[in-house]
Amino acid sequence: MYEDLCLYIDGQFLQGEGRREQDVTNPATGERLAGLPHATPADLDRALAAAARAFDSWKLSSPMERSRILRRVGDLTRERAPAIARGITLDQGKPLAEALGEVTRCADHCDWHAEECRRIYGRVIPPRLPNVRQLVLREPIGVVAAFTPWNFPYNQAIRKIAAAIGAGCTIVIKGPEDTPSAVVAIARMFHDAGLPPGVLNVVWGVPHEVSQHLIGSPLVRKVSFTGSVPVGKQLAALAGAHMKRMTMELGGHSPVIVCDDCDAERAADLLSALKFTNAGQVCVSPTRFFVQQAVYDRFMARFIAATRQIKVGPGLEADSKMGPLAHARRLPVMESLVADAVATGATIETGGERIGSAGHFFAPTVLTGLAAGSQVMNAEPFGPIAACVPFKDLDEALARANSLPFGLSSYAFTGSTKNALKIQNGLQAGLVNINHFGQALPETPFGGIKDSGIGSEGGSETFDGYLVTKFVTQMD
Ligand code: NAD
Repeated sequence: MYEDLCLYIDGQFLQGEGRREQDVTNPATGERLAGLPHATPADLDRALAAAARAFDSWKLSSPMERSRILRRVGDLTRERAPAIARGITLDQGKPLAEALGEVTRCADHCDWHAEECRRIYGRVIPPRLPNVRQLVLREPIGVVAAFTPWNFPYNQAIRKIAAAIGAGCTIVIKGPEDTPSAVVAIARMFHDAGLPPGVLNVVWGVPHEVSQHLIGSPLVRKVSFTGSVPVGKQLAALAGAHMKRMTMELGGHSPVIVCDDCDAERAADLLSALKFTNAGQVCVSPTRFFVQQAVYDRFMARFIAATRQIKVGPGLEADSKMGPLAHARRLPVMESLVADAVATGATIETGGERIGSAGHFFAPTVLTGLAAGSQVMNAEPFGPIAACVPFKDLDEALARANSLPFGLSSYAFTGSTKNALKIQNGLQAGLVNINHFGQALPETPFGGIKDSGIGSEGGSETFDGYLVTKFVTQMD
């Protein structure tokens, strides 16, 4: 069973009814799963009007009421997780256990936002005169236009929706057309949890047409996007032209620094599991591996062996550890990155090619001996490719890690607190993981610097992008 796909506007689920439909397919087989109705321009206007109307009352709603709805959605997420996860595996491709992990972790995001939205406080500033009162109020910004990607269809959408709704905003969200089941499931849960009509609206369409329409509307006050750097820059320019606040969660090219004083075998095992999660289609996936010379051979031997063990197959098969790429269009990108690496002197240690002709499977790939100018060392692969090079000293590794315009996630393994401190201070990234991976939790902020984005999601920062500050001064 696959999700019944639809739009969700002003509290109503809308089917095809003559609208243009897009095929949604299973990346493991190529089979058609369903048709996805695109919103017409009139649908988009209806969604915007509904969100604007709903904002008038939702902004005044009690945080206790918002909290109750978010908590109920958390509970429903846990109840419905098996079916939602199956939908994600069918349209996105990741193994079922990974999809289930994505959905159940999102229940915690709902709980976190349910708690935290009750603590959106203002402050009182001591006045200069005894009969003056100075207040700082934090108010919801208004209607949010959000755009979420296909790699974590549930997670990426719920973080924006929970933050907007918890802050007292209303939202029109365009989910990923290739992997839509999770966002439709989210709409059903908020509906069943009693969210008033118009507070959440879900639309689909041609991405650039929908984003132009929504961001250009005077009803929208805030734009939130997760996706690639080039598209993020386009949408940021559009938001800037209309002076709209924005949160941008964009791509990275995460460096990993493996120092010679770490447990190289442990680092190799952890990193090989992380690298190939979701077939490497993760914005925080480790991609550029800098390994210190003294442990290089030991680390590489273990990392390559662990990578060769990864069983690739359809996500619904219980023993599959890595599924297909979500899109056929990513296969030639992987092939061209590997071909360029080899042409510039690299060695394919394992993988390097697609598997079979049915589905979009690409082998877990480890490349070594890479030239600094090779494409894969400079452009985010967003797929199952690890690029590994040795380094001599930590200053050199930090300089190479920081040499790109991105700054999302970063990783390091070291046994020394001196190195750990130097790495923590030296890496230009929004997220620094030392000796373990501990990012993207509901209670911790997640976001990039440099070209990787603007703003944070999660943590106590989660509502910042959805609130405006109002200063009130009053004399008796
Ligand atoms: P892409 O740039 O075409 O699209 C990325 C996402 O943005 C998709 O979900 C797409 O529907 C959406 N999108 C594209 N143009 C848009 C527009 N004008 N308005 C609104 N939304 C728009 O790339 P792709 O081939 O789908 O994915 C590969 C690249 O995307 C990777 O290089 C990776 O950097 C990036 N990506 C990043 C994330 C992330 O979590 N930061 C997630 C998915 C994809």
